[in-house]
Amino acid sequence: MSTFGFEISATDNAARRGRVTTAHGSFETPAFAATATAATVKAMMPENARSTGAELALCNTYHLMLRPGAERVAALGGLHHFMNWQGPILTDSGGYQVMSLSDLRDLTEEGVTFKSHLDGSRHELTPAKAMEIQHQLGSDITMCLDECTPFPATEEEAALSMRRSMRWALLCKDAFRPRAGHALFGINQGGVYPALREESADALKKIGFDGYAIGGLEVGEGQESMFRMIEATAPHLPLDKPRYLMGVGKPLDIVGAVVRGVDMFDCVMPTRSGRTGQAFTRRGTLNMRNARHMSDPRSLDEQCPCPACAHYSRAYLHHLFRAEEILGPMLLTWHNLRFYQDLMRGLRQAIGEGRLKAFAADFAARQAEGDIEPGDQKDRALG
Ligand SMILES: [Zn+2]
Repeated sequence: MSTFGFEISATDNAARRGRVTTAHGSFETPAFAATATAATVKAMMPENARSTGAELALCNTYHLMLRPGAERVAALGGLHHFMNWQGPILTDSGGYQVMSLSDLRDLTEEGVTFKSHLDGSRHELTPAKAMEIQHQLGSDITMCLDECTPFPATEEEAALSMRRSMRWALLCKDAFRPRAGHALFGINQGGVYPALREESADALKKIGFDGYAIGGLEVGEGQESMFRMIEATAPHLPLDKPRYLMGVGKPLDIVGAVVRGVDMFDCVMPTRSGRTGQAFTRRGTLNMRNARHMSDPRSLDEQCPCPACAHYSRAYLHHLFRAEEILGPMLLTWHNLRFYQDLMRGLRQAIGEGRLKAFAADFAARQAEGDIEPGDQKDRALG
């Protein structure tokens, strides 16, 4: 079994291209994880998700501890076997979901007790418990339990919250049971305050982790503030460990974060949007429910090799969403995942060739261009 490792093969200013190796294979960075919250990439077979280029899956401790239960998953052979995902799996600690989904949570120095959003049953999540659950799941990359500082928060509130997360990080490190190829990541917090972000980075570095996440962003602070926080954090993290920006984000957020030295991402956006009819393209986002696609015989994106673009028209995708057919979310999820993975491939290649700045400028310009005109083609199809 391989040991956990991170190898950087190229840099371009602050950006890095590399490869993370785990007990269940490796993934290229900058990487975008396929969101598999409840041990499934919604609307996708795992092999199809993989075929888009996704090498890393992200599962959710909060959801899986409540249903089907971590002990049950362990008894059934662990998460990889349970969900038929043979590649690396990262699990988040559940802290964020406890804050956002559960009722009647009670946060203390020891941890958090909460009522399940499913059936109202009472549960407790402590740093040690979060480590135990992720161990039972068999996660390749385990995340520390932290408190996602709410936004907005005063500097004093953000400092108290961040320092508690740092005390929990130490407890997580103590409770984590090392296994070959399995990693534990610490999570940087500190709200929108650069001094707190720096203090948090130093505290995590002192404890020592296999990788470092930047948490508590994309919670309403805006892109400019998010980029400033990455700039305040990344230079204080070890150069030779992967950096993971949690829950981000839109394509242009990802490009900006890669430019600033981030290696790993996850976000529900491509899969969630795929289920509601929103498509990500090189020329911005499209709503396939929009009437302008009703008679359009062209593909969503003629340069995209995904099944939605290769075999179907915009008119058909529009029809599927209007008729609420299951194939609509399936095809559009596939396309969106492919778009995100193609973006990551492009970023990796650009870093390798030392032209990330030009790539980022070109990508932003195309996103701003807007969709192709609906006019001519539509008339031709009807005529
Ligand atoms: Zn496509």
